[in-house]
Amino acid sequence: MSLPEAIAQAAALIGASERLAVLTGSGISQESGVPTFRDAQTGLWERYDPQALATREAFRRNPKLVWDWYEYRRRLVRQAEPNPGHRALADLEDLLPQVVIITQNVDDLHQRAGSSDIIPLHGAILRSKCFTDCQGNPTIIDVAALPDYDPQSGPPRCPHCGGWVRPDVVWFGEALSRELLERALRVAESADVMLVVGTSGVVQPAASLPFAARQRGAQIVEVNPTPGIITSIADLWLGSPAGVILPQIVAAIRAHP
Ligand code: ZN
Repeated sequence: MSLPEAIAQAAALIGASERLAVLTGSGISQESGVPTFRDAQTGLWERYDPQALATREAFRRNPKLVWDWYEYRRRLVRQAEPNPGHRALADLEDLLPQVVIITQNVDDLHQRAGSSDIIPLHGAILRSKCFTDCQGNPTIIDVAALPDYDPQSGPPRCPHCGGWVRPDVVWFGEALSRELLERALRVAESADVMLVVGTSGVVQPAASLPFAARQRGAQIVEVNPTPGIITSIADLWLGSPAGVILPQIVAAIRAHP
């Protein structure tokens, strides 16, 4: 099948969807210049293993080191802009009755592109919370509103309990938010079409969502330059970047409403 044919088929499937679930992974963020977890290890951070920084134990051992690493990664996210792929997903909300985005990305690019219903499975790097969740799970802390907060001097203290404040992301060895995971599963299982964008399909449990959707009869459309595990169950695979393909799909839906 040629690429224009695949785009026309994807537009027909997605354009007819009543309940579209979208699963996004690091590929779409990378297109905006947000490096993947491992690719972020340049310059000062080159000698650190990200797996050894993103754990509760690492934070307990050296809160300032881990906080500084997250400050560095937050700067990269703040410098990045949503790309045409993010914007096309936001545009789908105007064309379809229901669009829910389930993302493995911790940046805020879907939000900034204008998507309104986002399930951030792995947390949000720009948000912080109390290390012990002293006021309930999660105890979100707005660090910018803390008096005398200086991002250069390590994590601030929780205003409720005096403990450390940490990034609101899922670290190695931690469970995903049960509430978010349950909602993601409901969305996947009730979807008529699932659009999978820029994920290799190896990080669980997110990677199991397309399989759950497929089992309940959803059609799977995958946009990813390189084929992965999900490609084997995809009804349609488009092997190009999201920023190239998704705007064309949206344009094709608009042309044949
Ligand atoms: Zn606290």
